[in-house]
Amino acid sequence: MQLRIWKQRSLGLRARLTLSYAVAFTVVLLLLGILFRARFERVLIDEAQSILEDESATIRKYLRADGRGVGWEFDSSVSEEAFFVRRMRRVLLIADQDGQPLEVSDSYRRLGVEPPAGLKKIFDGPLPIVRTRYAPDGSRYILRSERIRLDSRNYYVTLGRELEESDALVRAFTFNYYLIVWPLCAALALLGWWLSGRGLKPLNDVARAAQAVSSSNLKTLIPMRGADDELDHLISTLNSMTERLEVSFNQMKHFSTDVSHELRTPLTTIRGQLEVALFTAKTEAQLREAIIASVDEVDHLSRVVSALLQLAAAESGQLVVNRERLDFGQLCGGIAARFEEAADVQNLAFKVTCESGCFVEGDRTQLERLVTNLVANAMKYTPAGGSISIQVRAIDDSAVLTVQDTGRGIAPQHLPHIFDRFYRVAALSGDPARGLGLGLSFVAWITKAHWGHIDVKSELGQGSTFRVSLPIYHGGKS
Ligand code: ADP
Repeated sequence: MQLRIWKQRSLGLRARLTLSYAVAFTVVLLLLGILFRARFERVLIDEAQSILEDESATIRKYLRADGRGVGWEFDSSVSEEAFFVRRMRRVLLIADQDGQPLEVSDSYRRLGVEPPAGLKKIFDGPLPIVRTRYAPDGSRYILRSERIRLDSRNYYVTLGRELEESDALVRAFTFNYYLIVWPLCAALALLGWWLSGRGLKPLNDVARAAQAVSSSNLKTLIPMRGADDELDHLISTLNSMTERLEVSFNQMKHFSTDVSHELRTPLTTIRGQLEVALFTAKTEAQLREAIIASVDEVDHLSRVVSALLQLAAAESGQLVVNRERLDFGQLCGGIAARFEEAADVQNLAFKVTCESGCFVEGDRTQLERLVTNLVANAMKYTPAGGSISIQVRAIDDSAVLTVQDTGRGIAPQHLPHIFDRFYRVAALSGDPARGLGLGLSFVAWITKAHWGHIDVKSELGQGSTFRVSLPIYHGGKS
């Protein structure tokens, strides 16, 4: 089904590309045709006009005027002269200054001789003028009218040429041009179809390869083409997206396994305790004991669930970070002070050196939780007689919190995982009560949400040092 949809879309894109390409070409060729035709027509008319100009310049050589009218004078034995005069007389009108025609050729007569008043109006206007007129049979003529002076009188001469030949040439050109254009457009459309198919092929290959990637084989990467072009860029973007997806999928897989494991153990314990109480408890005290133990487990369960909910909310961006200007040294000092009494009871040396005046922009509740988690861990994993030191200092542009203990330390193979959800190092005998394995996940998230950085140094049996650096806030007091 999916494959079909994809195929249809790919075909659509190819057809759309070809269509736009073919339409663009057709429009360009049609416009070019119109342009060429107009240009060609202009050239032919210009040529006819320039012949008429030559004839107008020459005609006065062969015309003689006397009191009665105008006559021709040329040597008919010179064939060139005879030909020239014959040509000029083909389309000709000679009129006197009142517009009375003196000589009108047959061709001109077919065009229709204007009445004397009309001719006078033309001749009295600015001369020479060039105009085109149509004969009743549709043939076109170009006419050039000019004033000439013979025997101290003005005469008006209109010379003309039939444009039938030029028009036929233009018609032939137009016909042949459009005869070629349509098959050319069809051929270009076919070429466009082939080219777009070729152009889209690598894209289709990539789409096919991407389709083979599913949640079960996110490791499959789309092979790069090595062309270092936009498509390779797309492939590498898709591949890095798949890699990110794989990390998220794995996290989700681990998360669900961890959650089910975390919830199953206390549930099994509760069930066991209740079953034992149900079948074996004889006295009220025994029943109470079983119920108290179950309530403890239920407490543990609800702590896990609420911590998980908070962590999920934090990591999915639903937990709002209310930032304010905070004295980080003062905040850490305040939290550490709360642990002094407990440290005393546990027989731990407790040293707090928190410089006040290291300001950060942060959420008070979240930062308190961060410090509490680190100090509580130090206390939890340091046996009696050990020592804990909590320090806040400004180093360069960072407020740095260091929580150092001389506790049991963390083996190097566990170090990379201690910030993972539910990761707990297997308990040693005599260890304090089990934790949720979520404290450091919170610490990591809170540090990240405050644009900070956390690192840990630890040696098994020697102790651990957690260092959180947050950027110092230089903004004004709030
Ligand atoms: P927990 O609730 O188990 O303390 P955390 O996420 O806070 O969960 O810590 C994860 C694991 O990291 C702990 O189980 C512990 O093994 C180890 N750890 C954390 N802090 C210390 C420390 N100061 N000293 C030794 N081990 C530590």
